[in-house]
Amino acid sequence: MDVLKKMMPMEEESCFVLPNGGGDGVENGSDGDGKVGLVLIDIIKGFCTVGAGNLAPTEPNGQISEMVEEANRISRIFCDRKWPIFALLDTHYPDKPELPFPPHCIIGSGEENFVPELLWLEKEEENVTIRRKDCIDGIIGSINKDGSNVFVHWVKQNQIQTILVLGICTDLCVVDFVSTALAGRNVGMFPPLEDVVVYSRGCATYDLPPEVAADIKGAVAHPQEAMHHIGLYMAKARGARIVSQISIGSRN
Ligand SMILES: [Zn+2]
Repeated sequence: MDVLKKMMPMEEESCFVLPNGGGDGVENGSDGDGKVGLVLIDIIKGFCTVGAGNLAPTEPNGQISEMVEEANRISRIFCDRKWPIFALLDTHYPDKPELPFPPHCIIGSGEENFVPELLWLEKEEENVTIRRKDCIDGIIGSINKDGSNVFVHWVKQNQIQTILVLGICTDLCVVDFVSTALAGRNVGMFPPLEDVVVYSRGCATYDLPPEVAADIKGAVAHPQEAMHHIGLYMAKARGARIVSQISIGSRN
């Protein structure tokens, strides 16, 4: 990891500050960041809960547990203030594979639902928009049959200038979402979106060490810590801000 971090150094901003407040009516918008919306990517059983399917961890995993904990904490802050949350849930039909991945998060399996820690978000209908998607890229996965886009609508309706992105996997669904958001931002597709912020401790990826992958036919090694770093590095290279802490500002 030291060699990788030396080759691909990535400085994180130390802190992203959310405005303080004790309830409704607190203005959403940290200094210079405009109105903030929270994006939660695929924090579902099939990717996070031990034993919950082909792409779930096989044993408890510290990086994934911390991501779920942080997602829960930040979601509470947003819901207490009725600030907008956009949650993507990877969900597939059994007859429509998503290559090169094995079958996962099949509708009705339970894998496609929030982890138990975040199930409460389903009841927060006032400020939480839930989108089931069958595409690794959550913005493409937000396109409706009529061509409209749920993410675009959410940004516009809530007048979001900054999105704060958390979820799994850092180097797959997170970086794809971030890249598309920034590409679209650049050509004015998502007004008034300006800034994409990725919370590093609020993201995680899966672990498939080389020595384990060697024993699985066709498997490609995916060392967790390295791939998490590479995912964040790529997001930053595409223009995202990477932050290592989220805090609540002082009341003024
Ligand atoms: Zn999928």
